[in-house]
Amino acid sequence: MTRIAVGGFQHETNTFAPSKADYAAFEAGGGWPGAQYGEPIFRAVEGANIPAAGAIAALRAKGHRLVGTAWAAASPSADVTDDAFERITGRLVSELRRSLPVDGVYLDLHGAMVAESFDDGEGEVLRRVREVVGERVPVVASLDLHANVTRAMIERADGLVAYRTYPHVDMAETGERAALLLDRILRSGGKPAPAFHQLDYLTGIPSQCSFIEPCRSIYRELEQLERRHQCVLSFTPGFPMADFAECGMAVFGYEGNASAAVAELRAIVAGAEKDFALELHDAPDAVRRARERGHPGAPVVLADTQDNPGAGGNGDTTGLLRALIEQKSQDAVLGMLIDPASAKKAHEAGLGSSLVFSLGGKSGIPGDAPLGGEFTVERLGDGRFTCTGPMFKGFRMTLGEMALLKSRAAPGVRVVLAARKCQAADQEMFRHVGVEPRQSRIVALKSSVHFRADFEPMAREVLVVRSPGPALADPAGFPWKKLRKGVRLRPLGPVHV
Ligand SMILES: [Zn+2]
Repeated sequence: MTRIAVGGFQHETNTFAPSKADYAAFEAGGGWPGAQYGEPIFRAVEGANIPAAGAIAALRAKGHRLVGTAWAAASPSADVTDDAFERITGRLVSELRRSLPVDGVYLDLHGAMVAESFDDGEGEVLRRVREVVGERVPVVASLDLHANVTRAMIERADGLVAYRTYPHVDMAETGERAALLLDRILRSGGKPAPAFHQLDYLTGIPSQCSFIEPCRSIYRELEQLERRHQCVLSFTPGFPMADFAECGMAVFGYEGNASAAVAELRAIVAGAEKDFALELHDAPDAVRRARERGHPGAPVVLADTQDNPGAGGNGDTTGLLRALIEQKSQDAVLGMLIDPASAKKAHEAGLGSSLVFSLGGKSGIPGDAPLGGEFTVERLGDGRFTCTGPMFKGFRMTLGEMALLKSRAAPGVRVVLAARKCQAADQEMFRHVGVEPRQSRIVALKSSVHFRADFEPMAREVLVVRSPGPALADPAGFPWKKLRKGVRLRPLGPVHV
């Protein structure tokens, strides 16, 4: 019977964001299970839409025996601290060494991790894993669609397989695809050669959504190419907020005629450059339009994309909330504003009390400030609930103290507060404090794209809003320093020199 070591280390790093990911951030998990070591990793991810969960089920079904090493994830933010990187990678490697001999390794990685001392976080994790198991043992990893795939990652792994949906409804399924590739490598006894190309333009994350063009067509063609060329193929549009040389889009594949498939897919992505442009709205205009068009049963959904905690924001900028209040919007709700001090204050004051808050605006984002005003505490919550939407289904949230506040200046505007940061991508985050999103006219979300899985089906319309935050929708706005020369900083945009 074969023995396979299972591990995971996920972080999406926005090097331009205000806060780093320390070890405590991985213990908290930010919506994901907290850091786990050894056998408990299996129970921690079980039943959730998590790559490792899909891989574990598939490997067991194929009759492999599994040993757990380490699994950890944290909310996207600036760099992973060296302390966190060394503790988690160190433990993954020591558990792996203790498990030897193993026949194969499966890793649940993100692909866009930058640590303080390692620009290519996953390249370094793979280097250390390879050092333990040697050249002969196959190492296969699943990756996020936002991976910035590097040459070192391709060299050090025997297989990389990325999600093909954004919102990521196929995380567990991608773990399964990676596991089946590992299983085929073990059965065949030979390692497939990789085919790999990086592209030379960046695109903002709101336009990477696989529900809309051009990604909807690109992923459809990817599946056709996979069938025609009998290979496993991935397209990663990348995470365009990590300032290092190899940031950006890539296509890669293994088995069959992967090199032909990758060449064709690369041409398709190169040809789609102009289609990645996206319409963005300023907050006052977006609110004005939403007030006219939204109604209970079919709200207008506003995506506060640049402060998305899923892309390195702290979820506490106030630009969109300010616009909702200034225009005295009706049946409007914004969530989640991450502000532990205000959530605590609401809990201490108690239900029904009205008091002056200074909400959010604490991350030092240019153009942003706390929003002061009197609010009534309408509901309180302990932040513990299980998600039900297509992407976060089965995730057990622990978001700390939560509260629903109603503005006294604009009584039609409510705001959902949470103490711990997490992207607003599941309706349970609102229901936990008594709000049924569908009954609103305007639903404003701290999210870029993931919200679409659970919120778009009921929305009259979705508007992507540009208001203050560190996750710029247009990558050309970042002060790039380490990015390789020659990359266009947005579709058909200026070239980095
Ligand atoms: Zn992602």
